[in-house]
Amino acid sequence: MSESRLREEICRYGRSLFERGLTPGSSGNISLRLDDGGWLVTPTNASLGFLDPARISRLDSAGRLVSGDKPTKEIPLHAALYESRGSARAIVHLHSTHAVALTMLPEIDPRAALPPMTPYYLMRAGETALVPYYRPGDPAVADAIRGLAGKYSSVLLANHGPVVAGDSLEAAVFATEELEETARLYLLLRNLNPRYLTPDQVSDLVQVFGLDLPSHHDHDGHDHG
Ligand SMILES: [Zn+2]
Repeated sequence: MSESRLREEICRYGRSLFERGLTPGSSGNISLRLDDGGWLVTPTNASLGFLDPARISRLDSAGRLVSGDKPTKEIPLHAALYESRGSARAIVHLHSTHAVALTMLPEIDPRAALPPMTPYYLMRAGETALVPYYRPGDPAVADAIRGLAGKYSSVLLANHGPVVAGDSLEAAVFATEELEETARLYLLLRNLNPRYLTPDQVSDLVQVFGLDLPSHHDHDGHDHG
């Protein structure tokens, strides 16, 4: 896909996310990694609903601004996730209501923020890590993301929002949507004693669809079959 086409894609998905109320005001940002190692990133203080393809920040492989507006302050999040997920080509970060709400609940497991509720959550978002609260733009958040050792493509920032990587912009957007909807389901069902997918049902998905779930990573060097 040409760079001008990719710029249009960022604007199209950004508008779609904004219009569905998935990130308010000028919150949220999107980045794409280009073949030359540089990036396209949404500008600082830009609403995802009203992006201009010509003003998207173009960075070189060292992260220097080449053209367009000043990039989002949340670059450290994106950089850390790209660094730890070699296959990631796009990252979406939103301030979406249900995913943010989830981060504030006391029972959330930071290594599996959501239970296995639906197959599509596992297939698109995988499992989700939760990292502690950091002030927006604090470079320390990058260390927290690197600390996950690349095992998670979807990460929740406490009291802030999700950051999700994908091997294409479409994959990153769909995974972010799946994460938001699953957080919403969790909140709807909380304290109602719902039936989640069983470990056998999860193992079946891992096997049939070749899912790379952190909980199914081999920790002791033996194949669990
Ligand atoms: Zn943010």
